[in-house]
Amino acid sequence: MSEKNTKVWTIAEAANGKLKSVSYELLARGRSLADACSEQLVSVLIGANVSKAELTTLIQHGADLVISVQDPALEAFIVETYSNVLIDLVQQMKPNIILAAATNNGRTLMPHVAMRLHTGLTADCTDLQIDLTTGDLLQTRPAIGGNILATIKTPNHRPQMATVRPRSTQPLPADPSRTGHILQISLKPELVDKRVKLLSFEAETADESNLQDSDVIVSGGRGMKKADNFQLLHDLASLLGGKVGASRDAVDRGWARYPQQVGLSGKTVLPKLYIALGISGAIQHLAGMKTAETIVAVNTDPNAAIFQVVDFGIVGDAFQVLPELISRLEERKS
Ligand SMILES: Cc1cc2nc3c(=O)[nH]c(=O)nc-3n(C[C@H](O)[C@H](O)[C@H](O)COP(=O)(O)OP(=O)(O)OC[C@H]3O[C@@H](n4cnc5c(N)ncnc54)[C@H](O)[C@@H]3O)c2cc1C
Repeated sequence: MSEKNTKVWTIAEAANGKLKSVSYELLARGRSLADACSEQLVSVLIGANVSKAELTTLIQHGADLVISVQDPALEAFIVETYSNVLIDLVQQMKPNIILAAATNNGRTLMPHVAMRLHTGLTADCTDLQIDLTTGDLLQTRPAIGGNILATIKTPNHRPQMATVRPRSTQPLPADPSRTGHILQISLKPELVDKRVKLLSFEAETADESNLQDSDVIVSGGRGMKKADNFQLLHDLASLLGGKVGASRDAVDRGWARYPQQVGLSGKTVLPKLYIALGISGAIQHLAGMKTAETIVAVNTDPNAAIFQVVDFGIVGDAFQVLPELISRLEERKS
């Protein structure tokens, strides 16, 4: 394969044989960069049990080439081995740009790879552009607690690497008429780091997993007063077929767990409906949910910042509004 053909890479992720939606979101970002510099877009999958038909969906969503390294030894994400595999590919094919998801895996893998390749990495980019004169990737991300947007370049090192938050981009619509190639590469046994073994796997609870894929999120903050009161949020979320999120304050107090945290240092979510109860709307919280389709907030303080981003605001006590909402929904259901 010629170097010229492998300039813009995105790292796909899969679980249980299915590609995660972030793989397609990254392709949307990658496509616009590849088009801007007239390069091919390559999607790289390191993993196991992903069928050819599933890999073809990467082509339908924008990839020109899919590089797949699959092996039972890659079923569990072990950063040392994944890093060996990705570095081996990079050294052979010399990509110019690599985009990965700011997921647990991406956030673990990419710093490992960046350090070993002696190149830069910009985490959690919100915008990516190409400077066509220099070929530099302009990597924009919030800085200083989300108060400014900084644009970062990696002028002297290649590849240029960035992570992008899940749900911050819409995937391109699938186009079944798109054509491309799938390159299956066997895992070189020497790339498996035998020092690391998976002993056990603890899954997130149903509420914590895939918060970012939920269409409805009911989030609570300090205004919920205590952990037990989160049960009301669970009741409302289950009536709406949604999941429970939380502000950092609620997580710090142990009322919810970190995978439920929404915001700058938690998850970015893009649900159809986001209901915030007892959350003030600090800029760091808004950074994770302000692009939700419809935002509803309940807060006793009419001046709470959350009301600046809502579609429907209820100035009131969550402990009056929540039981009312729950009983109305129950009535409707019955
Ligand atoms: C670098 C950095 C990263 C951060 N990352 C995040 C992040 O990822 N996510 C995040 O959420 N925060 C984050 N924060 C923290 C953020 O600044 C706020 O401190 C936090 O969001 C506040 O949480 P809260 O809204 O639950 O609490 P508060 O700000 O204390 O708000 C509680 C709200 O509840 C209302 N209330 C009280 N009683 C009731 C009631 N009975 N009914 C209805 N409303 C009531 C009050 O009027 C108030 O508005 C970060 C901060 C920093 C510096």
